[in-house]
Amino acid sequence: MIPVFTLNIGEKELQNICIAVESGWVSSRGEFIKIFEKEFAKYCGTKYAVTTMNGTAALHLALVSLGIGKGDEVIVPNFTMISSALAIHYTGATPVFIDADENTCNINVSKIEDKITDKTKAIMPVHIYGHPCDMDDINKLAKKYNLKVIEDAAEAHGAEYKGKKAGSLGDIGCFSFYANKLITTGEGGMLVTNNKEIYDRVRSLRDLAFGEEQRFLHQEVGFNYRMTNMQAAIGCGQMESIDDFLKIKISNANYYNKELKEIKGIITPIEKKYVKNSYWMYVIKVGEEFGMSKDDLKKKLYEKGIDTRDFFVSMSEQPFFKHLQSDEKFPVSKKLSETGLYLPSGLNLDYKTIKYICNVIKTIKDEKTK
Ligand SMILES: *Cc1c(COP(=O)(O)O)cnc(C)c1O
Repeated sequence: MIPVFTLNIGEKELQNICIAVESGWVSSRGEFIKIFEKEFAKYCGTKYAVTTMNGTAALHLALVSLGIGKGDEVIVPNFTMISSALAIHYTGATPVFIDADENTCNINVSKIEDKITDKTKAIMPVHIYGHPCDMDDINKLAKKYNLKVIEDAAEAHGAEYKGKKAGSLGDIGCFSFYANKLITTGEGGMLVTNNKEIYDRVRSLRDLAFGEEQRFLHQEVGFNYRMTNMQAAIGCGQMESIDDFLKIKISNANYYNKELKEIKGIITPIEKKYVKNSYWMYVIKVGEEFGMSKDDLKKKLYEKGIDTRDFFVSMSEQPFFKHLQSDEKFPVSKKLSETGLYLPSGLNLDYKTIKYICNVIKTIKDEKTK
């Protein structure tokens, strides 16, 4: 079976883990944490970075650090992974869903302004599958209405918007190092910012908000969202390869694009002129012209030993967000869920395998139209 993703943890990471364990610093203090944060901030072009236990925790901390909570509203794409909306829900604030843009799968920025109310405190754009959102437009709206911008860049390590790295474009950027992300620490996350106040606050909130004068006297509600030094040890090893990983993702995506171009009904991902798509996952949409539903194509690919994954199910379809539902329809998100598929996107994929996958898709279509 050709898997959707493959793990890339090497010798360097294993050596680092041994160093971390032998040093005795296995919890969240230790040198690797500091190095990983410093290197990741540098990579993103931000002043500060804070490790967290996962990407969802980074998003939650971002919101709490900005004082967002009960009675507030936060604008978020309807088409995203559950973590973005859940993080908002955890704070007691209400997520306000916006339909997607069909071409990029990102939040449709032209639909945001209508949803801004007196309660709106922030916008959380998500760079879906590695294609950056239109951040200039989002930042302009944020400025006009005095809103904060929290980027969910969990799928966009290394992606760029007008020459700047995803995550560095708003007030706070959040990343995930889950196993299938561009780089991994097993579980893990990172929050980046240029704002010293936010940085200090996030560090305190992540670490149970211990007292400054009297350690065990807590002035506010904190969280234990720390990353371990062992995970950071893996992260430091991964940082040495991040540029290579990104290059592989991009060159594989370009090769897929070339091979799939001629197949009618297979809609390949786009890359706007002023962005660098990091192609976290190589995604296609199965259009009507293909002559077969996404589900049928998925089944046939599986029979040929090619694994795939469905697109996200929209937030408006989630049972526990039922109470937020109105008569509003989200036709684009719905269509994306119905037609979208990730093809194998692992870092060890070679051109020969990609060609094979594309040929199988071609053959499936040819047989169908015969
Ligand atoms: C992976 C991901 C996250 C966070 O994931 P964790 O598993 O909590 O690290 C958040 N948002 C999006 C869009 C993601 O894809």
